[in-house]
Parts: sequence; C-alpha cells; structure tokens
Amino acid sequence: MTQVIPIERKSAVLTPSSLACLAHVPTVNLTAGCAHECRYCYARGYLTHPGEGKVTFYTNTLAKLREELRRKRKKPTTVYFSPSSDPFQPVPEVLDMAYDVFRFLLESEIGVTFVTKGRIPERHRKLLAAHAPLVQGRIGLITLDPAVASAFEPRTATPVVRLAQTAELIGAGILLDARLDPILPGVTDGPDCLEPLCAALAGIGVRTLAASVLFLRPAVIGSLRRHVGDKPMLDRLLNSFAGSEPMAIHAGNSRVRALPASARLEIMERLKSIAHRYGLEVLICGCKNPDISSGSCHISGRWPPAAREGSQLGLFQP
Ligand code: SF4
Repeated sequence: MTQVIPIERKSAVLTPSSLACLAHVPTVNLTAGCAHECRYCYARGYLTHPGEGKVTFYTNTLAKLREELRRKRKKPTTVYFSPSSDPFQPVPEVLDMAYDVFRFLLESEIGVTFVTKGRIPERHRKLLAAHAPLVQGRIGLITLDPAVASAFEPRTATPVVRLAQTAELIGAGILLDARLDPILPGVTDGPDCLEPLCAALAGIGVRTLAASVLFLRPAVIGSLRRHVGDKPMLDRLLNSFAGSEPMAIHAGNSRVRALPASARLEIMERLKSIAHRYGLEVLICGCKNPDISSGSCHISGRWPPAAREGSQLGLFQP
C-alpha cells in the first residue's frame, strides 16, 4: 500500500527537464516518487524522492497550472507527462488529478504527450480518444513474461493490459510508440524476450520503439538487491555489469555505470534485426547513449513541424 503525502507545490508546475530530449518541452510531475515502484527506476536516486512506498502528491497542480498559463503570453503547444513519475499510478488522487489536468490542457488546445507503464482507466482513455489529434503516448514495456514483469515492475499494469489499452488507443487514432526502457542485460536482452515482444507490438499497430539498456546508480543497485527475490536472475543482471564503466549522460550532470559501448551496441543490433522483421523502427536515445548514438528517442512526441514551431523556447519565463 502506497503512503500518499499531500503537499502544496510551491515551485512552478511547468518545468524544464534535465534530459536533453526534453530540453524544449515543458514537463509536469503530478507526484514525486511513483507508486509503481519499479525496481530499476532511476528516479529512486533523485533528491525529491520521498522514499520507498511513498509518493508526494501535489494537491494544487491544476489551480497552479491554470494560473501559470493565464500569465503566459505564449502557450506551449505540448506538455510532457512525466519526467520522473507516471500519470497513471494506481492512486485515486493521482488519477483524478491526471484526468483534470489532461482535460484542462486538451480543452485549451494544448497537446499532451505521456509515458506510462500503468493501467489507464476507461474515463481517461475516452478523454484521450476524444482529443486524439492532440495526444501522443509512449507505452513502456520491457517483457511479455509476467514473472519477470512482476519481479521488476510490481505495481504496473500487466503486459497484457498494457498491450490491450495500447491497441484501443491506436484504434482511436492516437499515435502510440513503445519504450523498451530499460532492457535488462542477462534477463530481457535475448531473442526469447525480444522476439515475442516485437511480434506483439507490431501485431497491435505499434510502428516505432525507443530502447535503452539499463544503467546503474547506487539507489538502483540497492533497490534491485533488496527486492528481486530470484537470485539467479539478479546475479545474471548484476554480473552483466562486471566490465561496466562510469559514463556521463545528457541528463544534468549525471554519471552512471553503463555496459561498455560494444555490449550495448550488440544488444541494440540484436533488437534491430528482430524488430525490422516485424516492420518496427528502433530509436536509440542519444541522451542515455552519447557514445553510441546521436539520435533522439522522441520521448516528447513526433509532432508535425508546425506544432513544434519555435521549439517552445521561452516557455519557462512568465
Ligand atoms: S513507472 Fe516509471 S517513474 Fe514509475 S516507478 Fe516505474 S520507471 Fe519509475
């Protein structure tokens, strides 16, 4: 059971992200911390993280957002949810706020891009479908294996649910891509995992997937050791990092432990060769892989050029 800590947000709702892919898009976190409790979640190491089993819920997000947008001369064309949480966490207050904030933005003709591993409730799906041209989404999915999913993502929607809701939203005309992030070396990087995943995604109409291999921070290592009870699986994962090296990524001044470039390239080549057989395009994020890619994962959406005019520069000033 997640402990919800309600607080009033003092700082701005629309915030820039330290991730280079999101540099020009305003982002919103409805919470600090995330009730999905993914064992590999990088946000566990952030200063704002409230600790395991807790989320800090910002009670005044909608009111503050209305006020911020009222004062802006130039409105954003798109808002991204969420850089270090998930808008569809299984917490009633968060889901209500997600609905109200999404509705406010969409009825203001402002686009919404979201990334989720959660169960999207029916009323939210209807809202998104009713505004399909203004909505893009990224569905996070690392495996179809329910045992692996529940070991690493204990409170997310099951892979079956994520696929079903993705199919429904694509059917409603929403552009949805997939994110294989993170690929877990030694656990989900083999053809036995990637092949059925690609087949399932292609089968429901996904055309693009962005992928990134897990990197380690101290908070992530601690979480994996505390929570992943399948010792052989945990050993395979952590032993894969035996030759790992510190790497600077394009997210603030972050330094992480990453697999050597050659090992990440080998995994990506394997994924690409499988994905291409199913007609899927693979994007490798240059923010998280500056040594092997200069590409973008398009996490903030793939909007037509007109919608990105001006790159939303200047949006963070009143
Ligand atoms: S859904 Fe995303 S933000 Fe939430 S715990 Fe999982 S990885 Fe972290």
